[in-house]
Amino acid sequence: MAGNHLSVRFWGVRGSYPVPGEDIVKYGGNTSCVEIRANDHTIILDAGTGIVNLGHKLAERTPASKHLDLTILLSHTHHDHIQGLPFFRPAFRPNCTLRFYGPKILSKDLEPILRNAMSPQYSPIELEELKSSVEIQNINENNILVFSGESEPTVVTQNEFDGVGRGKVIVRLLRSYGHPKVGVFIYKIEANGKSVVYASDTEGYVGGDARLIDFARNASLLIHDAQYTPEEYLNKGFPKQGFGHSTYEMAADVAKSANVEHLVLFHHDPTHTDAQIAEMEVKTCEIFPNSKAGAEGLEFTF
Ligand SMILES: [Zn+2]
Ligand SMILES: [Zn+2]
Repeated sequence: MAGNHLSVRFWGVRGSYPVPGEDIVKYGGNTSCVEIRANDHTIILDAGTGIVNLGHKLAERTPASKHLDLTILLSHTHHDHIQGLPFFRPAFRPNCTLRFYGPKILSKDLEPILRNAMSPQYSPIELEELKSSVEIQNINENNILVFSGESEPTVVTQNEFDGVGRGKVIVRLLRSYGHPKVGVFIYKIEANGKSVVYASDTEGYVGGDARLIDFARNASLLIHDAQYTPEEYLNKGFPKQGFGHSTYEMAADVAKSANVEHLVLFHHDPTHTDAQIAEMEVKTCEIFPNSKAGAEGLEFTF
């Protein structure tokens, strides 16, 4: 899609592990994957099992003669965020470039981490067997990705950044420390004065995550981890506090304080049924009315 355009489609909204089942059909059981189309660029947030269906759709809608350029931004490399990669159809297409960006994990580069995740011990398909060209680059909190016409973004530092220009697509990132051992990257994609913030796998703070509130201020859409109800989070028998995920109240508090337009609850607990998630959505709307529970197929266009 050419010209000024920013749209979002959800392909996987489930946290931790994929779930099949009759009582989860409304929201879906695939793990994290969100597709952003920004001007002429396709940016994919995380590569959980949701990326498999996205791959089929991309293969369908892109003629074999057309080069497919895809930017994949990884929040971190827990299984539920990379598990779909060996089954992503565009990766088997010579006429395709996959560009991965994400954090170093515990001082280890992203490239060997993905290579290891796709080694024969864990995967039927190795990284070398992919037919597409694959580029894997670590980025850090000081980096900004700038798409200015070319399919490949330029990675600059905040000091080198020369501002948001017409037609540019900008990706900024914030490191969250609210996820066990590794932390995660939270991303903001900006185009044509609109923006989408992706904050999965992050645990909120009392009174809201001040850095995230600042980062997400006035965003068009905030996608926020909302794995738990407050009762589950503080449950005396098996508390989820410290697990690195938020409650819907924490998500709503950030949305409200940051004055975003829309909130989507994301990374649903794998044990939650459609009915439970629908109830969480209703309760979230009591705090922040413009809220929706993430669902496979949910779309926004700005
Ligand atoms: Zn996760
Ligand atoms: Zn995680």
